[in-house]
Amino acid sequence: MTASYTGRDRLSETVLNTLKRVPRHRFVPENLLDRAYQNRPLPIGFGQTISQPYIVALMTDLLEIEDDHRILEIGTGSAYQAAVLAELAETVYSIEIIPELAETAKGRLKALGYTNIVTLQGDGYFGLEKEAPFDGIIVTAAASHIPPPLVAQLKPGGVMIIPVGGPFLTQELIRVRKKADGSITSEQLLPVAFVPLTGGP
Ligand code: SAH
Repeated sequence: MTASYTGRDRLSETVLNTLKRVPRHRFVPENLLDRAYQNRPLPIGFGQTISQPYIVALMTDLLEIEDDHRILEIGTGSAYQAAVLAELAETVYSIEIIPELAETAKGRLKALGYTNIVTLQGDGYFGLEKEAPFDGIIVTAAASHIPPPLVAQLKPGGVMIIPVGGPFLTQELIRVRKKADGSITSEQLLPVAFVPLTGGP
């Protein structure tokens, strides 16, 4: 259904196999266990959601991850997306602004045995200067604009996937590419619905 927007008529086998490996039921609240494998977002508390599996797969695919890549995620939430990324990348840095969610995510990833995800609590609008630049950046909350610090922390040749738009308006999934010469291109891919990115200047 989204092929006309994304130019991809199917998701890569690698990404689909990764989704099969990551146990989504370990990332949803206990009272929603029976819905863990439905293709829909679910509430995780604090007004936040774990994204729909299709969107997780699509955004992961669009990042063009290679096994030596260092990826930055803004919006850890349940840490499901971070776990999917960690199956493909060398290291994932994931920032969450809500302390309780950041704490729960950290414990969960430890229990699941992930050793290549670094979780941090803070405002991801500003990225993670001390670990920059990143091969890929994924923002899993909708921003009103593309945060300039994130563009600055993207490696030449890198890709950023970010939903942009207001909370009550249609948001668009945007792909930002930084070319080898440092110039930036951005493409609108498809309409999406995310919780808002808070924080910022
Ligand atoms: N990737 C998540 C989806 C999380 S929903 C998952 O797989 O479950 C978006 C998350 O972004 C929420 O947890 C929200 O608290 C967080 N968030 C919003 N603004 C943020 C900011 N400025 N910095 C870091 N995290 C932010």
